[in-house]
Amino acid sequence: MQHNLVLYNTLTRKKENFEPIHPNLVGMYVCGPTVYSDVHLGNCRTFVSFDLIYRYLLHLGYKVRYVRNITDAGHLEGDNDEGDDKFAKKAKLEQLEPMEIVQKYTIGFHDVLRLFNTLPPSIEPTATGHISEQIEMVKQIIDNGYAYEVNGTVYFDVEKYVKEYNYTILTNRNLEDMLNNTRELGGQDEKHGRLDFALWIKAKPEHIMRWPSPWGVGFPGWHIECSAMSRKYLGDQFDIHGGGMDLAATHHTNEIAQSQACNHSTPAKYWMHTNMLTVNGARMSKSAGNGFLPGELFTGNHALLNRGYSPMAVRFFMLQAHYRSTLDFSNEALDAADKGYKRLMTAIALLDKISPAAKSTFGDLKAIQERSYAAMDDDFNSPVLIAELFEVVRIINSIYDGKLTINKKDLDALKAYIQAFVFDILGLKDDQLGDADNMDDLMQIIIDLRNDAKQNKDFVMSDRIREQLTAIGIQLKDSKDGTLWNKI
Ligand code: AMP
Ligand code: ZN
Repeated sequence: MQHNLVLYNTLTRKKENFEPIHPNLVGMYVCGPTVYSDVHLGNCRTFVSFDLIYRYLLHLGYKVRYVRNITDAGHLEGDNDEGDDKFAKKAKLEQLEPMEIVQKYTIGFHDVLRLFNTLPPSIEPTATGHISEQIEMVKQIIDNGYAYEVNGTVYFDVEKYVKEYNYTILTNRNLEDMLNNTRELGGQDEKHGRLDFALWIKAKPEHIMRWPSPWGVGFPGWHIECSAMSRKYLGDQFDIHGGGMDLAATHHTNEIAQSQACNHSTPAKYWMHTNMLTVNGARMSKSAGNGFLPGELFTGNHALLNRGYSPMAVRFFMLQAHYRSTLDFSNEALDAADKGYKRLMTAIALLDKISPAAKSTFGDLKAIQERSYAAMDDDFNSPVLIAELFEVVRIINSIYDGKLTINKKDLDALKAYIQAFVFDILGLKDDQLGDADNMDDLMQIIIDLRNDAKQNKDFVMSDRIREQLTAIGIQLKDSKDGTLWNKI
């Protein structure tokens, strides 16, 4: 089948045909988490969105080098190179070494993403593991004339840069407005221009995470790690650079400027930004304190939650929105997603119980498949794909109920379609009732016990077994071939 993948490029503010720079190796860089605390559900939404993109590229047959970094140094509390170091502050609070903080939250991040069934990236570089690459890049930017050193700190010279390049190319903001929104420099300030930002920061005596450099002992600025690590693993120019929308205005704007000043080229051909997960309309964020931890969501152990939800129901909730739309958290929305997810998995489980007929009367699988690809080819439109999947659910249920029939060839094709779109591309799995093989065996034991009860005319017991199974979402159906079961 011919594919014409189209994606929305933040850089051009347009949907564009995806044409990789090197067709046999797609390079994708996604800004990873800052591991000084647990990731919240908003962070997870961004990583699940890029997992969907990664999975679809793989499904289309691209070889992808997916690089997602771990920010484990250099993050100060303020956006403007001000405030305490987040890692050092947390280390003091938890009475741990900064690298123990990094280790603890990196493991937590991996655990959570595994629960969400995201594929690991090809490379997961850390900022602290690439200090020399960052120093090298800062040196080159200085040599090219776009940075200056003051008293052990190196600043990027935005004022010089804007004379030659479009600094706000990614967001199309007005430079005057940006200047007006930035505080005036005072006598204490070392930097020359209001928009200048630090590439390398001199370490105060109490600063724990510090490295030697040509400018004295210090640590890297917030943005240089991604420029240095994407260049190292993907080259000066690569295909896709992604992250949450909140990163575009500062972090990604500065990444572009750094790469341009160092390599004389913009780093990525396509910039992709995921929209925010919100709570009552406000962005979920660590600092706002409105961030659910995924663990709280799974157990329901949070004041705003009526109950817990399985990781796959939450993944389904995320995929029901397009990655460029905001997604507002609510109990009702999660309940609806949970129901939809269970309906889908229940129908899929029926596929193994359907006996093929001589003829198919269920309709046109090819058309469904084409519409499913069209949805994903249109900027990874998972909600449209899911609507298509519910059409498939309706068909499966009708076949199971005997209203429609399917022959062997079509049944195999339907199973392959489900494998591709539900499991490979959407990355869902059936986490409702554990291992399916085991479940079949367990259910057979229960069904046999119920049949024994019926034979002994113990109808109170046989009814009780059926009712209690219904209460936990399992339906029994007596047929001429014996008793069948399915999830409701
Ligand atoms: P951080 O750990 O804060 O650096 O964030 C890691 C990633 O999560 C970045 O790509 C952010 O843009 C993204 N992110 C942060 N908050 C949200 C949110 N509420 N919804 C979606 N993505 C978010
Ligand atoms: Zn980054």
